[in-house]
Amino acid sequence: MNHFKKIAEKLESRGLDAMLLSCEANRFYASGFHSAGTDGMALVTRKKNYYFTDSRYTEAAARAVQDAELREVGPGHGYTARLKEAIAEQSIEKMGYEDACMTVRDFETYRKALPCQLVPAADLLTELRRVKDREELAVMTAAQRIAERALEDILKEIRPGAAEKEIAARLQYLMLHYGAENMSFDPIVVSGPNGSLPHGVPSDRKIQSGEFVTMDFGCIYHGYCSDMTRTVAVGSVTEEMRTVYETVLAAQKAGIAAARAGVTGRDVDGAARKVIADAGYGDFFGHGFGHGVGVEIHEAPTASSAGDNPLPAGAVISAEPGIYLPGKLGVRIEDVIVLTEDGCENLTRAPKELLVL
Ligand code: ZN
Ligand code: ZN
Repeated sequence: MNHFKKIAEKLESRGLDAMLLSCEANRFYASGFHSAGTDGMALVTRKKNYYFTDSRYTEAAARAVQDAELREVGPGHGYTARLKEAIAEQSIEKMGYEDACMTVRDFETYRKALPCQLVPAADLLTELRRVKDREELAVMTAAQRIAERALEDILKEIRPGAAEKEIAARLQYLMLHYGAENMSFDPIVVSGPNGSLPHGVPSDRKIQSGEFVTMDFGCIYHGYCSDMTRTVAVGSVTEEMRTVYETVLAAQKAGIAAARAGVTGRDVDGAARKVIADAGYGDFFGHGFGHGVGVEIHEAPTASSAGDNPLPAGAVISAEPGIYLPGKLGVRIEDVIVLTEDGCENLTRAPKELLVL
């Protein structure tokens, strides 16, 4: 899978002759090939595409990169030299660059060395990546299924005495075992009073009976992330725990019901937030309802109160309201959904009714 053509098609309307992709996520989105950090560069021009990388990657890149000419960089023919060649070959006058992630130092280097104008254009990629195509949805669904298989297994291992860290380690192992390439992020596993830390770090704390355990985790498959959160109870639940759980679930369902192409992130967030506020927990839901997911675990568009643009069809966003009672407990439930013209499709299949293990 690559998106060279999609990017090339946008160049003319932006008045660009080329788009330089040096940051890892955009480079991968364009080429379908992953090399670490700064170890590669893609250049999309109106007529042809280039991929530059060094000898550690050239054989792998030759196997994986299609629709682009591969050129090796090395001593005496670095990235700047390769870019100059391409600029001459394609008569490039205006080259887009990723103002959102290129370092100031690199920008200064290229601005001085390259015989063309550099135009900030990171949003060109942001725009494209907001809308997922069929192939992207297929791999994201597969990534989600891997995480769900891991969840199914881990539920059998959650019991009083199990440590948060141990559960987190097992989740990582299970996702890799079921075919994940990597984690979308370090799994969050928090129990009991730690549950009020939305992004708490798994500790040596041992799970006790009568507590919630919140697990937020996801994996990468074919370069795309999954993301899900489930909160389960161990042993028994109090009336308060049940109320908090049911409120979060109702809020999540309200947000999902409001989610469709054309509404804003604020609308979706607001639908969920209202349920939590009406139940009297408005002060305990501090973060946004959701975020875009794709090549990166957090990407555009946002489904929070800051989202004032209409959401496009094909956007994949998380749906993850939570209630956090400091020092006491926390509940978050997260699915990922894809927006359609008349609603949304839930990519997450794992059950989310209150589960008491
Ligand atoms: Zn998550
Ligand atoms: Zn998330």
